[in-house]
Amino acid sequence: MTTATGNLPEWLRPAPAATGTAPRTIRVAVLARTSTDDQQDPTLSIPRQYANCERALLPNMQIVLVFYDVESSRKELDQRGSSTAWKKFDIPIRRDGGIGDLLAEATAPDRRFDVVMCESIDRIARFTYQGTKIEHDLELAGVPLLASDEPIIFDGQTGGRKRKRASQILLRRTKQGVAEWYIVEMLEKSWDGFETHTTQGWNVGKPPYGFKAERHKHPVPAKRAEGKHKTKLAVDRRRGPVVKKIYSWRVNDKLSYRAIADRLNIDLHRYPPPQPVDPERAVGRWTVSAVREILFNPKYTGHMAWNRRSTKDKLHPGKNNPVEEWVVSAEQTHPELVSIETFLAAQNIAASRRRSRADTTPGAPNRHRQTRRAYRLRSYVWCAACTRRMFGRTVFDYTYYTCQPRDRIAPDGHPRTLSLDEDKLLDLITGFFNAHIFGTERLQLASTSANIAAQQAAEEHQQQINAVRYALADIESRQKRLFKILEENDDEEGRLYQQAKQRQEELDTEHTLKTAELDHLERTMPSGGAGAIDLLDHLPETKISLLDMPADRLRPFLDAFAVQLRYDLHANSVKIQATVSAEAVPHLTRLAHNASNRQPIQAHTPHARRPRPPAITSANTAAPANDGGDSGFLQIYDMPRRGHYLQGKRLPVPRRLLPPGAFSCPWGCWGRVPGS
Ligand SMILES: [Zn+2]
Repeated sequence: MTTATGNLPEWLRPAPAATGTAPRTIRVAVLARTSTDDQQDPTLSIPRQYANCERALLPNMQIVLVFYDVESSRKELDQRGSSTAWKKFDIPIRRDGGIGDLLAEATAPDRRFDVVMCESIDRIARFTYQGTKIEHDLELAGVPLLASDEPIIFDGQTGGRKRKRASQILLRRTKQGVAEWYIVEMLEKSWDGFETHTTQGWNVGKPPYGFKAERHKHPVPAKRAEGKHKTKLAVDRRRGPVVKKIYSWRVNDKLSYRAIADRLNIDLHRYPPPQPVDPERAVGRWTVSAVREILFNPKYTGHMAWNRRSTKDKLHPGKNNPVEEWVVSAEQTHPELVSIETFLAAQNIAASRRRSRADTTPGAPNRHRQTRRAYRLRSYVWCAACTRRMFGRTVFDYTYYTCQPRDRIAPDGHPRTLSLDEDKLLDLITGFFNAHIFGTERLQLASTSANIAAQQAAEEHQQQINAVRYALADIESRQKRLFKILEENDDEEGRLYQQAKQRQEELDTEHTLKTAELDHLERTMPSGGAGAIDLLDHLPETKISLLDMPADRLRPFLDAFAVQLRYDLHANSVKIQATVSAEAVPHLTRLAHNASNRQPIQAHTPHARRPRPPAITSANTAAPANDGGDSGFLQIYDMPRRGHYLQGKRLPVPRRLLPPGAFSCPWGCWGRVPGS
């Protein structure tokens, strides 16, 4: 390149370089891009861009390097060049890197090119800001950005004058503006289109798990001719019931995503795992995110939904949009798998579990300021009087689960602060499992509660039978009334007869259905719960100890049995509930072995000389093998929130077993036990 020396008097002009006057070759790096947005074929588009650049070269220019990407033009700049989509295509042009590599090399001292050339400026980026940013960065590094469809002017070609760029910049900015307008308008139009599409119940993307795509002819003739179609959702008969099951476990049993996934993974034949869009990413198992996705998808209510996740937010692709931005059809557009009530109940559980911070990695120390340690029983312990979860807290070295009504009105007899000792609770759970689930007497223990449960089931069944019998009697009496009308009225034209005949047929159909239902109910009388009790026999007889089990093993164990602890304020007892289901037996057995065999050696000295837990008495009601209680030695601390103080000094909390009803703080703070 020559320099602008034309106007200088001779005595000021630099001496010509000693090393010859041969014109230097200008090394060109081609920058190309194919979008994944528009349906372009990179194997055609990249070579075309290359050829156009080649045609625009000046005689002393030579292409030495080619940088290209196959990616969305709407990515943020710092994410550009990261796509590996180009690998999927057989592009007949050597690739020396992407835009990131080009920009990095532009500032490197051993840069291998002098200028960068693209086919057209809007190829660089669809948004003006990004295009000008790249241009500016290159210019700072001393590298001009040329376009094959713009005039190429260098300093010096104008007889030593500085090159005139004003018109070129106007042209370039106009092109960039048009390109940006085009893409924004296209997005806005497609947005409106999608909204209409959604309210009409057409599905976008892969049908969610549990549904299958039901193809419909495309309403636009031209698109129909291309073989295009639209899809609505229809229930997948094998996977639809799995969705219902997942919602039921969530809403009725309040299971965590992890616990639900674990249960599903026990029987992958019965609960086939979802297949992701990219089959290479299939893990062949249920994952926490797959379960969460199902529990949050409003399409299961039969309403079509769209824009739940952001594709526009370039920094967080796939981020969830706030509900206000969702587009949901007002009418049901396809069959529902869960009712709106169930769907909302599942959302509420998510919210309450989030509040309880139970959905973070189980057992991981909570980062919340007040809960820097892991509360092993977090989210399992409830205050029955308040129907609230009790929260974990630490006072000195001791862990408690606390119910503190504070702003709420406390139920009768509820102290301001009610705390249960974690070790004590673990003792109770251990005792419960060793007696009712893994103990030699478990069948006898369970039969008591099973009888009650079976009785309840039988009563409910009988009520159903009675209801069907009542309906049958009603149909029969209506049929009689119909004949009576015919008898009592003249019907010369036979019109009444026709109407009556039609009604008669309807009632006959109804009668047949109800008779079949009654028949089914009578054949399926509950057998008395014996089968359910037998389930217990499939579990090993063993002894476990949960006291020193680390949180990452304890929590999956409790989740698998869907354990719930309900503290009854007035009886001062904890009701423990565990669920054993047939499909979970192999999984539970494995967990039981882990809990008994891999017992750590008593590492914590405070627990080493622990007295045996008191005997569990199972005098409570509920389903087979799912209940136990203890009313012996439950400690209740009723204490000020910041601990005990005596003359301004903080005092250790006393730790002894006290009979219920007799507790008061020996340090003289205050204390009250319900009922005392
Ligand atoms: Zn409470």
